[in-house]
Amino acid sequence: MSSETNKIAIFSTQPYDKIFFNKYNDSGYQLDFYETQLNPQTVILIENAAIVCVFVNDIVNEAVIKQLAERDVRIIALRCAGFNNVDLKAAKKYNLKVCRVPAYSPQAVAEHAMAMILTLNRKTHKAYNRVREQNFSLNGLLGFDLFGKTIGIIGTGNIGKAFAKIALGFGCKVLAYDIVTNSEMEKDGVEFVSLETIFKSSDIISLHCPLNEQTKHIINEKSIALMKDHVMIINTSRGGLIETACIIQGLKEGKIGYLGIDVYEQEEKLFFRDLSADIIQDDAIQRLMSFPNVLVTAHQAFFTNEALTQIALVTFNNIKSLLSQNTTENKAALLV
Ligand code: NAD
Repeated sequence: MSSETNKIAIFSTQPYDKIFFNKYNDSGYQLDFYETQLNPQTVILIENAAIVCVFVNDIVNEAVIKQLAERDVRIIALRCAGFNNVDLKAAKKYNLKVCRVPAYSPQAVAEHAMAMILTLNRKTHKAYNRVREQNFSLNGLLGFDLFGKTIGIIGTGNIGKAFAKIALGFGCKVLAYDIVTNSEMEKDGVEFVSLETIFKSSDIISLHCPLNEQTKHIINEKSIALMKDHVMIINTSRGGLIETACIIQGLKEGKIGYLGIDVYEQEEKLFFRDLSADIIQDDAIQRLMSFPNVLVTAHQAFFTNEALTQIALVTFNNIKSLLSQNTTENKAALLV
């Protein structure tokens, strides 16, 4: 089957994807928008497109990649930074190029992480509802000063770095753990420590590392046991960093004082959809949402005007350079 290099099959599209991709399509690509997720059953929808564009919950495993290759797809363009959902080895084996948008707006995610901290701490979501019912009492809304508290950051890449600056701006003591130490951040006042120290010493822990074999379930029974009582945990990175059953146990015991999650291990069956009339079968997310000290947002940390603009621009640029030069201008964008 021969495919067309000016045709992009865009999966998991939402109305806002259509708006931004149509707006920045300066090279006149034919954009085939599919609302459905890419998975082994939906690959057959692709009609002669040489490029597929996917998002965080599309399934791009070996079975899908084999079918993509058979349909003469040449490029898998991720319109996100994380790539844990793509089997890169299989892509290499079937000679497909894979690119991503490495840093579209680190601030968007970092600012959302801080928004979650402030909401959980100062309970503005509860205050908003309360005053609408003419209940002006403050009971139950007690928070704490962020100034002087210790924030532990795991992963100091683009987002972790942006988040550290925000935390420093609030007057927090900032500890960080990464497999690479960042001397620039050290100069700004961030102290690089061991993972154990992060767990033991932080009042708030914010996750900003990718999901991979080393980081899967980094928040588990053992790490939770090391943490301070009533610790706050924020995850805007990937759901698989947290072992859900252990976090529920920690919340039930009162060990974990606050949890803010923008990502969830089984989110692909839930997020980016309106399920308000459905019976949710996932008992773990229902349990999590039942805690008064848990805040769940549905993978919206990236969702700013600036980020969606960059995502569209960088995705088109990646595709253009891959088609013309077999590489991308930004080296961090090329995965295979
Ligand atoms: P990045 O690649 O710039 O930074 C990741 C950092 O994690 C790097 O510094 C890396 O050295 C570090 N790291 C790798 N393995 C580690 C380990 N075992 N322990 C500690 N640190 C480790 O990525 P980024 O742009 O900062 O994004 C971070 C993550 O945020 C992405 O992987 C993605 O999953 C997630 N993300 C979420 C959203 C959202 O909307 N919620 C949006 C964008 C990105």
